[in-house]
Amino acid sequence: MVTQNLTPTASHATPTTVSTVYLSAPDVIALVRCKGIEACLRGIADNIEADFLRWESFDKSARVASHSQDGVIELMPIADDATYAFKYVNGHPRNTRHGLSTVMAFGVLADVATGAPVLLSELTLTTALRTAAMSAVAARSLARPGSRTMALIGNGAQSEFQALAFHHLLGITTLRLFDTDPAATAKLQANLQGTGIATVACASTADAVRGADIVTTVTADKTNATILTPDMLAPGMHINAVGGDCPGKTELHADVLRAAQVFVEYAPQTRIEGDIQQLPADFAVTELWEVLAGRRAGRGGDAAVTVFDSVGFALEDFSALRFLRDAAEVLGVGERIELIPALADPKNLFGVLQARSSPLLRAAA
Ligand code: NAD
Repeated sequence: MVTQNLTPTASHATPTTVSTVYLSAPDVIALVRCKGIEACLRGIADNIEADFLRWESFDKSARVASHSQDGVIELMPIADDATYAFKYVNGHPRNTRHGLSTVMAFGVLADVATGAPVLLSELTLTTALRTAAMSAVAARSLARPGSRTMALIGNGAQSEFQALAFHHLLGITTLRLFDTDPAATAKLQANLQGTGIATVACASTADAVRGADIVTTVTADKTNATILTPDMLAPGMHINAVGGDCPGKTELHADVLRAAQVFVEYAPQTRIEGDIQQLPADFAVTELWEVLAGRRAGRGGDAAVTVFDSVGFALEDFSALRFLRDAAEVLGVGERIELIPALADPKNLFGVLQARSSPLLRAAA
């Protein structure tokens, strides 16, 4: 990776350039449209599975969160021996009222050996893809085989991606939809036309979950909500709880969790941010990687209720950034930028201020 990324010169006569690939939002949109959403979801899901299977190779930590009245800004770092990644992401449920997305993100891949940044990429669209891919990876190992109907509660920005991941990766064919904003449900139905997924707009969450094999909750509200209550559970249900991902922001009634087998990404982070924040610190959960690796059992029979208490973990972004890097290289998408100053003598950083090549300086002269 170092040799790909750096253009070293033995004599330092000419500057050493760190070449960082920049993927803008239009670049990633073009990449996804070119490959197709299904291929992107499958590719990211494959990377997530592969990376979760080498869980112990990663230096992991819970993300660093900066909370404010209406939201949170988070930094999500992770690294293996070769590659370091981080994501910057926010969560501001009131943003949509001002025309801004609830979730916005960008991220970086860097070379561990030198610290040189290799990739700087948009991750807003990519977060929706990776969250949906992660949900599908979890459901593939936890939901009852043959699940065909999913309730989708919360029909905002993430919802189409969840719908398509469950359609393509699990075979979901019918979606029962509910959102407190009927316009969001209408938007989702319009966007899913022609995908082969049948959609039913429902009058309430209780109505939507009736007869569903899987329930996905992906609502945004900075409160301890009770979107799902114990009376809505049915034997064999799998719950993919995506929207409760921050202290004070939950979706499931605590008794739903007590009635279920609960699976998480990285327990130290989920105990702070997930729906299980409502329960004591010793509440029994299973990290999903252990199920994928065959170290611990998943669903305990056809009648069990399973919950994937998703909060979003840095490893999923590492997997998604790898996918973007590889796909961008094959498709020739993105541009190489000079994020780091090119130096003829790495000890003479000050020297860049004395060079007279800047167009800005020439214009000012
Ligand atoms: P969004 O604001 O675009 O959509 C959220 C939708 O939820 C809105 O349409 C809103 O009307 C609806 N809603 C709010 N309260 C509701 C309720 N009580 N019942 C039904 N619907 C309700 O947000 P988004 O980008 O789609 O994100 C959704 C949630 O997912 C957010 O909470 C976000 O933080 C979370 N998220 C989690 C992960 C993860 O990895 N776990 C990743 C991305 C986003």
